[in-house]
Amino acid sequence: MDAMVARQMLPALEELKDYVSIPNDAVNPEDIQENVQWAEKAFAKRGFQTSVLKNARLPLFLAEMSFPKASKTVMFYFHLDGQPVRADEWQQEDPFRMVLREKGADGAYEDINWNLLQSTINDEWRVFGRSSSDDKGPIIMLLQALDMLQSERQSPPFNIKVVLDPEEEKGSPGLKETLEKHKDRFQADYLIVMDGPMHASNIPTLTLGCRGSVGFTLATYGPITPQHSGHYGNYAPNPGFLLAKVIASMKDEQGRVLVDGFYNGIAFDEEALKVMAAVPDNKEEINARLVIAEEEKVGNNYQESLQYPSLNIRGMQSAVVGKGAATIVPDEAVALLDIRLVPETEAKRMVSLVDSHIQKQGYTVLNHAPTTEERLRYPQIVFMQSSGGTPAFRTDVNAPISVWLRKALANSYKKEPVVIRMMGGTVPVVSFVQALDVPAVLVPLVNVDNNQHSPDENLRLGNLRMGMKTCLSILTSPI
Ligand SMILES: [Zn+2]
Repeated sequence: MDAMVARQMLPALEELKDYVSIPNDAVNPEDIQENVQWAEKAFAKRGFQTSVLKNARLPLFLAEMSFPKASKTVMFYFHLDGQPVRADEWQQEDPFRMVLREKGADGAYEDINWNLLQSTINDEWRVFGRSSSDDKGPIIMLLQALDMLQSERQSPPFNIKVVLDPEEEKGSPGLKETLEKHKDRFQADYLIVMDGPMHASNIPTLTLGCRGSVGFTLATYGPITPQHSGHYGNYAPNPGFLLAKVIASMKDEQGRVLVDGFYNGIAFDEEALKVMAAVPDNKEEINARLVIAEEEKVGNNYQESLQYPSLNIRGMQSAVVGKGAATIVPDEAVALLDIRLVPETEAKRMVSLVDSHIQKQGYTVLNHAPTTEERLRYPQIVFMQSSGGTPAFRTDVNAPISVWLRKALANSYKKEPVVIRMMGGTVPVVSFVQALDVPAVLVPLVNVDNNQHSPDENLRLGNLRMGMKTCLSILTSPI
């Protein structure tokens, strides 16, 4: 397999260079149109039947191919749009004209001639360009793996569907409508999401889920307008102290949330504990990178800590700090918080647990800004308002899709992949997973230091090689 993948490197790089050359910020529908047309050609060339599914936003690309001996269907999800670029922040002239670079003695990447690829391909070289990693690189990896399979006159043991989301970087606003309108077109047994970076160890990675999130605002109140801290200090209550007390009551010294029922329903079986402990995270390295003396004690290790809901303060504000600061008792203090959700903790319930917690401390919780009458009546008002939230998803470690993919990777790499039970972040694809109600696993393929969403986005050639091998392993693994 390795020799075949090696021979495919140059065609893969040429095809990626070609795809990257089409700008893909979804604010420009004409650009997305061009990206879709490119995909139509690329997938049709490989024998796929392609469709462009319209919705009120930008069209969704769907490619389908059936194989006579296949009974199951696997759907692959990618996105073809990219983050906006500001060309002057990049070290290359045009972020859509992919360049080849090698790391110099000083650690900086320097341009090398593209034609060098004709004779050698060094895994440590990188190609730089928008979407080289996020998410066009992975699309090319799958296409090239299909080419290898076809050149061997083999076919995958399952039918394939490929979805290319045109607006992932904008939060996939049209996805839900397209799904509802064309539900039958998205029938599949398994969903594989190829997006995002691999584990920092760069060992082949499977991510079985991701946390959701819900945000809420808390506000407390002092005098109706800011007052002189000399004339009213010791008399007018300061909303900053009240907000600080409310928030401080929610966590203990070790970072564990004290809200009743916050961690209810979360339990790990032996297998889950084993999977989490096996992830090669290095606590010392993580803490040194974050420059923190000690981590919070919610889980026994980094992975475990991500399996619980988290309570986070996004920001706090009261009067002015820095330029413009004044000797006043402020009128208001506001904090924006969020809860990262797990499948056991539904957004609404979690927000209401926090609400009850605040009430139990003796405060008056209102879901609207207080009226003058309310301010006169209740000494300690907390305003609380939440947004709807995005749910979490997690596929069981022992679910058939998880076992199948673990086997596929273990067989071709001769070692177990890193299995992330659930990653900490939230990705727009959750709505897709939820709407389809299909077992899903994320198979990230690109290097962790790819500068995703930033200038100088890049793909390490070793990751292109590994990504094609991973795709080929999946395409040839009995299902
Ligand atoms: Zn992405």
